[in-house]
Amino acid sequence: MVGLSIAHQLLERDITHHITLIDKEPKLGLHSSGRNSGVLHAGLYYKPGSTKARVCVSGAKRLRAWVEEQGLPINPCGKVIVPQRADLDLQLNLLAERGKANGAEVEFLDSKQLYELIPEANSISGRALWSPNTVVIKPIQVVASLQRELQERGVRFLHNENYWFASSEQKHIKLQTAGEIISYGHLFNCAGLQADRVAHQFGIANEYSLLPFKGLYWQLKDNCPIQPRTNLYPVPDLSVPFLGVHFTPSAEPNPLVSIGPTATPAWGRENYYGLQALEPSMALANLSLLTRQYLSNRGGFRRYVHEQAFLALPPILLRAAQQLIPSLQANHLEPSQKVGIRSQLFNHNTQHLEDDFICLPGPSSTHILNAISPAFTASFALADLILERSGFLEPNIS
Ligand SMILES: Cc1cc2nc3c(=O)[nH]c(=O)nc-3n(C[C@H](O)[C@H](O)[C@H](O)COP(=O)(O)OP(=O)(O)OC[C@H]3O[C@@H](n4cnc5c(N)ncnc54)[C@H](O)[C@@H]3O)c2cc1C
Repeated sequence: MVGLSIAHQLLERDITHHITLIDKEPKLGLHSSGRNSGVLHAGLYYKPGSTKARVCVSGAKRLRAWVEEQGLPINPCGKVIVPQRADLDLQLNLLAERGKANGAEVEFLDSKQLYELIPEANSISGRALWSPNTVVIKPIQVVASLQRELQERGVRFLHNENYWFASSEQKHIKLQTAGEIISYGHLFNCAGLQADRVAHQFGIANEYSLLPFKGLYWQLKDNCPIQPRTNLYPVPDLSVPFLGVHFTPSAEPNPLVSIGPTATPAWGRENYYGLQALEPSMALANLSLLTRQYLSNRGGFRRYVHEQAFLALPPILLRAAQQLIPSLQANHLEPSQKVGIRSQLFNHNTQHLEDDFICLPGPSSTHILNAISPAFTASFALADLILERSGFLEPNIS
């Protein structure tokens, strides 16, 4: 989605019409952009001044308008955030302040208003935060439509190109499968889960490596008597970049409600199911890193482990979901086929998980790293910011 959005903005702003998009897979959307919750976030969570804060609200508005223009499914269902513990109630104020500072619309609800939206929802303090502008889309359809539009406007797509070699001095890429050499004026690295490896080829971002976290989902059965018609989120632990298990109605006319995603360490960048794409040496290195983070409790990491690392276990996921809807029972849920992996980076210099998007200059290239949530939501505005930082647009145009 990030690569497509940059191509889209290059065309929209008439910067160039000579664009080639190279992807290692036979089709687009096989990784994060086709495997996410589909929520266009309204911008409540992000620290004012961060890149996420700068691009989320305007990106969501622009993507929503484009989705509507294309006639793609959209569920304008809004979102409620409830404190699941008494000590989290005050954090609603912080989220509301951040939302307002970022230009998002937010309102406080009392218990009666919350009951009207989701009768089964529980707020420990009776208060909740309402975001009317959160919507849900179908990410895979957005990716497919955007690709179609770009193809029609002359963008060349090369698929199945996993092995290629970039020569930054000669400014060309040698493709192994097609055997072709492609010269470039500027290269944008938007390789998601592999973006750190691509950046390392250009001799940059050596302080970062991927620490992938898997997001598994469950869903409410058709016959479950509880069917929230709006997003229902907990107050998140703001020391880690995960939003907590939430309920999300899909963008179908008869919405299916997902519960998730979990945030469990993954043992391979693309280890979606079972032993598929395991990377044992990366898994071992990451396990030792996670253990060190736990022992030192850097950035409150122990709380993440206690509250979120084991959510892949069904009873623990059920317990997290019951904090939001206490009457939920195990027999209301079934596993979903949906699973995604976050392209979360770890910074070896600061020993922290990176929270914000990272956009680094390289030789005749720009590298977009840590494109975690809400990069999908923000993609159109993020693309403008990337073009600004690469010198193709005047600052602040987005
Ligand atoms: C479980 C989950 C839930 C999420 N929920 C939301 C949400 O509700 N809302 C939201 O805004 N965001 C959400 N996100 C985040 C969002 O999905 C990502 O921020 C966004 O999709 C990132 O897009 P991308 O283009 O950077 O990465 P990707 O979609 O992963 O695209 C990268 C592309 O690069 C290709 N590639 C990789 N390596 C190479 C290589 N060496 N050569 C050529 N091609 C290569 C891949 O095949 C892929 O097509 C979620 C993420 C996850 C994992």
